[in-house]
Amino acid sequence: MKIAIVGIGLIGGSLAISLKENGFAEEIIGVDLRQENLDKAIRRRLIDREADLAKAIEEADIIVLSTPVDAMLSLLPKVLDLVDQQVVMDVGSTKMPLIEKVANHPKRGRYVASHPMAGTEYSGPEAAIPNLFDHKCTVLCDVENSDEDAIALVKKLYESIPMGVTYLDGIAHDIHTAYVSHISHISSFALALTVLEKEENEKRIFELASGGFSSTVRLAKSSADMWIPIFRQNRDNVLDVLDEHINQLARFRSLLIKQDFKKFYELIQESNKIKKILS
Ligand code: NAP
Repeated sequence: MKIAIVGIGLIGGSLAISLKENGFAEEIIGVDLRQENLDKAIRRRLIDREADLAKAIEEADIIVLSTPVDAMLSLLPKVLDLVDQQVVMDVGSTKMPLIEKVANHPKRGRYVASHPMAGTEYSGPEAAIPNLFDHKCTVLCDVENSDEDAIALVKKLYESIPMGVTYLDGIAHDIHTAYVSHISHISSFALALTVLEKEENEKRIFELASGGFSSTVRLAKSSADMWIPIFRQNRDNVLDVLDEHINQLARFRSLLIKQDFKKFYELIQESNKIKKILS
């Protein structure tokens, strides 16, 4: 299979490594906005060669969009205009705006909406790593609007990594990801700001930072270029979850003020139930 990857950063690059290593891809063609990214991707052997978008579409069997989600809104219709029998998939963290954008496109069937649920806080081709997706889960959305052969090929691609494949409608996907991914990023950005504003002497933070602090604040290293388009596209769902999160913080605050440590203890125990879900 020849695979064109548009946006050769963390996700596109990591996917390229996996698909080349496991033999699913015989060739990876890279497309990116910046020559510097393509040069890095070639140096790191993420891609076999670069091409412009039209040429990559003409030559590839599968076109993977892995740019930030705002860029996908203009890229996907353009790509669908140019495809014949090729399959187009995206890896974006939000689904509904993109799905709606091409709902009436005559080539809609060639597009499969997907979201591999794996990542790190780093970006760009230098952040691409092997095994990022191994044994994680990917979500395919609104598959009833995609051609059967296109779904089968995208499923085969993910299963080759190997990843588990699950199905959701796009609306449910955007609600669920607001809960399991988007809110934790806002929470981490806010925690980083809280600490940075209180502790002016950064050296002191590093001296004291233990595993707990570092792991809770890890996501605050994430790129604003990648996250702002996600928050813009999933604003309503993220606001709902954020309101609930603020309520929970307010509960802890109120218990501390009242020195009600019995209730505080119970709330921590209630939150410990997450162990069962995540194990
Ligand atoms: P990334 O590392 O920043 O990579 C995105 C790449 O796309 C960059 O090389 C960027 O170039 C390039 N690009 C931007 N606009 C473009 C355009 N119009 N045409 C071609 N290339 C373009 O971001 P990422 O973390 O891989 O995220 C990629 C996608 O995966 C996003 O849609 C994100 O929602 C999704 N995703 C991310 C994660 C995660 O944890 N990071 C997990 C699952 C899914 P510049 O850097 O020069 O802008």
